[in-house]
Amino acid sequence: MIFMLQINKNYALGDGEGDMRIAQNLYVVLHESGNQNDVYDNQAVVHEVQYMRNHYNSAYSTFFVGGGGQVFQIGEPGYVAWACLGGNPYSPVQIELARTADAGIFKKDYAAYIELARTYAQKYGIPLTLDAGGAGTAGIKSHQWITNNYGGDHVDPYAYLASHGITKQQLAYDLMHGLTVVDPITICNVVQAYSPNGGALTMYHANGQAFDNTPLISQTKWVSNGIVPDKFGRPMFLVGKDSYLPQRSTTLNQIVEINQKYGKCATAVTANGKVISGLGNKFKAQSRWKTADKLFNIKDVGWCYQVSNIEFIPIKYQVGSGFKG
Ligand SMILES: [Zn+2]
Repeated sequence: MIFMLQINKNYALGDGEGDMRIAQNLYVVLHESGNQNDVYDNQAVVHEVQYMRNHYNSAYSTFFVGGGGQVFQIGEPGYVAWACLGGNPYSPVQIELARTADAGIFKKDYAAYIELARTYAQKYGIPLTLDAGGAGTAGIKSHQWITNNYGGDHVDPYAYLASHGITKQQLAYDLMHGLTVVDPITICNVVQAYSPNGGALTMYHANGQAFDNTPLISQTKWVSNGIVPDKFGRPMFLVGKDSYLPQRSTTLNQIVEINQKYGKCATAVTANGKVISGLGNKFKAQSRWKTADKLFNIKDVGWCYQVSNIEFIPIKYQVGSGFKG
């Protein structure tokens, strides 16, 4: 599975709400809601998030995951949240998980939970270890570990994870290695969001409008099913229904990487659409070529990247074209 991380900020705390203190970057804390009423409620995560939003003065976390891998933001990442008492000042991110009895929903929730923890641990320079060491040892921590080291009585999330067959050892392994299983059919078409300065990235609708409330986190990976130009001719990866990720917002900014599904070589054409012969294996699979953030519509060939004064590569050869071989 290739995880697609989108964060719903419709219920996020606003200015002047929640703790204003910047947390020390020691822990990412893992929770689960502990609410058994959630297990047969398809909207459990939304209900949990609404409740938390309305009662943030008593307790809140940074994120809530549930409903089949949905991620909701409540507290601002990097700031103190109120979900683990004495551990709060050291935890820039705390993640809740809504319960479900549905194994399919759990699988997606768990993937989101893991990926979110890994993404933010890396963002804040926190090791991917689980419950390692004592108080002051940075890493990803269960609420149980926080309780053991800072007091309190919560011992989540292990019992709930165990109910879906996830042991502590499995959780530790998944946090360390991630859950991305490379699918040989789609590997050629995975693109990775990338922001050189770590700033927010966004996706666009087909009409050119930016998405609301779903800033992309740098380094998230997306399966692309096609490449289309926006109205300025800039290449956009089609990564979901009416969801376009600009190529300039990925690690392929101004780069053509020959889709390895071809196994051999891409063909280049001239500006007039004539196939260039005698190139040998120049444009071989996985080779990378400098290009501009612009596509050219070449007669009888279609949209192409320009990679030299005379050479154009049809978009189907680019990683993310959706070509499956
Ligand atoms: Zn907890």
